[in-house]
Amino acid sequence: MPKLSSYPYGSINPPRDQSIVYASSSVEEVMRGMEEGDPLLYGRWDHANTSPLKEWLAELEGTTKNAVWLTNSGMAAIDLLFRAIRSSKFRSRERIVASPYLYGGTWKLLKYMQREGLSIISWVKNTFEIESWEKVMCERSLSPALVFLESPSNPTAELFDIRGIAEIVHRHGSRLVVDNTIGVGLVSPLQLGADGVLYSVSKAINRKSSHLGGALVLTPEYRDVLGESLDELFKLVGYIMSSESACAAMSGRTTLKDDMRKFSHNATRLAHALLSHEAVQRVCYPSLPSSSHHLLAKRQMPEGAGGLLSFDLGSFEKAVRFVEEQEAAYLAVHLGDVNNDFVTLPITASHSDLSEAELLDIGITPGLVRVSVSLKDTVAFSAVIAEYMRVLDTLV
Ligand code: PLP
Repeated sequence: MPKLSSYPYGSINPPRDQSIVYASSSVEEVMRGMEEGDPLLYGRWDHANTSPLKEWLAELEGTTKNAVWLTNSGMAAIDLLFRAIRSSKFRSRERIVASPYLYGGTWKLLKYMQREGLSIISWVKNTFEIESWEKVMCERSLSPALVFLESPSNPTAELFDIRGIAEIVHRHGSRLVVDNTIGVGLVSPLQLGADGVLYSVSKAINRKSSHLGGALVLTPEYRDVLGESLDELFKLVGYIMSSESACAAMSGRTTLKDDMRKFSHNATRLAHALLSHEAVQRVCYPSLPSSSHHLLAKRQMPEGAGGLLSFDLGSFEKAVRFVEEQEAAYLAVHLGDVNNDFVTLPITASHSDLSEAELLDIGITPGLVRVSVSLKDTVAFSAVIAEYMRVLDTLV
């Protein structure tokens, strides 16, 4: 018996629904829809095109479909999480503990929420010593509601020991959520003990730079705790991912893991080439034997660390010359595209709102260039590397 489709007409792709509203056959059905979300009623609450993507992400992370929230951007997923944590149910312990090695947008959002009155945000100092996490958890009598980190981080590709940190966090009765935008398909934070994982779907899940999206995925157990607050806010405000974004994200499902391995392969090749160039002072990529994260990378991400890396040219002027003179990559604030290479200077874009001291603390120097590699084949990617080397030669 050949494989049968579960979709109407035997269609082999999920059908794409064009509606934002769904008719009910009875008041009882409306009431059930309001209560349980099934049947569908209105597109701001949920729509037919989220279902296949929720199923896939739940399967990828080893959780249940009802523990997945699909949002209209990665930032919307982060905002949804932080605001749900602040809801009255958790008010007595709304403190968030965060790693400072975060995407600039997340930094800005945390600061914004601090201005709005989010009780206390503690930044973990000496983040790479596991004892620092223990220390910050003990700092106050009340344990925080949430610990938040990014691994690998943007832009310096720092790795965190998710299993080790989750153990500490749980011992203190708190929860760990990991932004795994850069490591999707290469590491599964929920399997390592995290309570939640967060994605900018706009990046390596979409992989075509075509649509924005975000996802928050929890364990079934954390869903029982936080799900009600998330559902309430999600439906009220309209965080939901568009139909087009959900369908676009689904189209890369079968090749995600392979593509992520190939991204890692190209990034490793480039990292080695950069390391051997005298114009380059530092290369940040965890798979390099010279990286302080090398052993953790081998253990936590044995198939590769993804397609993002950064390197330091020692001065802002040299970094500007590099990104403006090379002709292989777009100068663009994006990452995780199969067809296109990107370069950007974090201090001028993603992290432009951080103070000089904050930037230095997390290794974002004026000469730091962030690179996102494409999936070009060996020959074509050799040409990209050669172009980068040509410009670097002029900077010595
Ligand atoms: N998390 C990380 C690690 C990111 O790099 C980004 C964006 O670059 C985001 C979250 C935000 O995602 P979005 O641009 O989809 O809002």
